[in-house]
Order: sequence, then C-alpha cells, then structure tokens
Amino acid sequence: MLSMTNISKKFGDLEVLKDISINVDQGKVIVVIGPSGSGKTTLLRCLNVLEQPERGEVSIDDQTIDFSQKVTKPEIRELRKQTGMVFQNYNLFPHLTVIQNIMEGPVTVQKVDKAEAREVAIRLLEKVGLGDKADVYPYQLSGGQQQRVGIARAMAIDPKVMLFDEPTSALDPELIGEVLQVMKDLAQEGMTMVVVTHEMSFAKDVADEVVFMDGGYIVERGSPTEVFENPQQDRTKRFLNLLQ
Ligand code: ADP
Repeated sequence: MLSMTNISKKFGDLEVLKDISINVDQGKVIVVIGPSGSGKTTLLRCLNVLEQPERGEVSIDDQTIDFSQKVTKPEIRELRKQTGMVFQNYNLFPHLTVIQNIMEGPVTVQKVDKAEAREVAIRLLEKVGLGDKADVYPYQLSGGQQQRVGIARAMAIDPKVMLFDEPTSALDPELIGEVLQVMKDLAQEGMTMVVVTHEMSFAKDVADEVVFMDGGYIVERGSPTEVFENPQQDRTKRFLNLLQ
C-alpha cells in the first residue's frame, strides 16, 4: 500500500534521513519512535512530499514518485490526495467553523459537491464524538477536541493512508486519551497508518511494526514485543530506559 525506498533527505549539509526504507501493508499501523531530532517528522513529510528528498522513491498504491527524477506538481498533488496528515498543533483554520474546516479539502481541492461534503463531514464528526460541534469555531474547543477535528478533516478526503505527526504532544495529559482512542478506532477499522508518537502504550497496543530512529537512520524495527521487550541495539535500549 505504502512504501518508501532508499530515501535520503538533506537540509543544507545536514543529512536528516539516510537511506530510509519502510513498507506498510494495507490496514497495518507503523509507529515511529525515537529521540527529538532523529528525523521522524521529516520522514512523514517526505511521505506526502511536504519535503522533497534528494533520492529514493515513495509509492502509494499504484503511484510511484522517483525523487532522482524531476517531480511535477500534478504528481505531488496526486500523491497528497492519497494521504491524510494530522499535525502536532492541529493546524485548523481559526476563521472557519468545525464543519467548514472539514469540508474545505473536499470542496476546494477535490471539487466535491457542497451538500455531499457536508454529509461526509457530519458523519466524520459523529465518528470522532463531536456530532454536536459542527458550527462552533476551533477556539471554542479543547485541544483534544480540536485534534479530533484535525483527524476528521484529514479523513474527509478519503485517504488511503493516514499520517500522524506527534498528534498528542501538544495536549494536556488528561486530553491525550480521547485522541488516542479515536486513532485506535481508526486502526481497528482497518485504516493504514504511520504514526510518530512518544506514547509508548499506544505503540504497544496498536502497532503492527515499531520503527526506532536515531540520527537519520532506522536503528531497529520489529513487532512491539520485539522492540520493547527484547531490543537488540544499545541505542534502542538506552532510549527505552530513559523513558522509564
Ligand atoms: P524529529 O521529528 O525526530 O524530532 P525532525 O525530522 O523534525 O526530527 O528533524 C530532524 C533534523 O532536521 C533536526 O536536526 C532538525 O533540526 C532538522 N530540520 C528539520 N526541518 C528542517 C528545516 N526545514 N530546515 C533545516 N533543518 C531542519
């Protein structure tokens, strides 16, 4: 469903991703963990071409972009249509109501009929437990509620893959659970997901594969049991010990 092959990405002289390859089968959840600055966000941003790597390929379903060739805007647009991205700071439009936020992508980018987009948005709002918040503005919601709107908005374009970039790290601890629950529900429904998070309990419960990154490399990968209970690499052990 989704693959990233031999991706390398530099910012100036700093090589942030070093020959990274990842495969995600349909319906699977990959959780990416690692210290701050290890390249996790950049990895996600390369997956939907918010950043352009120097080398390597990204494939979603039957579309492949080879970054060693010149990449065109229509190619990027096409790939983005397959991915829903959830950001750390929600990135909702403050001047639009909740339902307008969710309808924005389908109506302006995908040219979906407004009535149809509204129906989908209402269904998604109910799914994330905010059926009664359609007409309020983001500032009238808690951080957890805003992030659930962020998830509904990302889902509105009917993506093949959902990408989550530390979706709970801006939230007060008591609001984290409600967002993780929505993500767990999505995973259970068979959504293909790549999740960057520091929530190790989520990784243990939901991940099919855990990828540990450090210094732009994938240091270790495996099932949650393998990575958390029997890490092979010293760097992984040190990182996990620091969290305890
Ligand atoms: P993580 O998500 O694991 O914290 P990032 O992918 O955000 O790591 O960052 C990896 C490295 O790339 C860091 O050293 C960061 O400072 C650098 N970096 C990220 N984005 C940019 C950018 N737009 N310009 C320059 N350096 C960047």
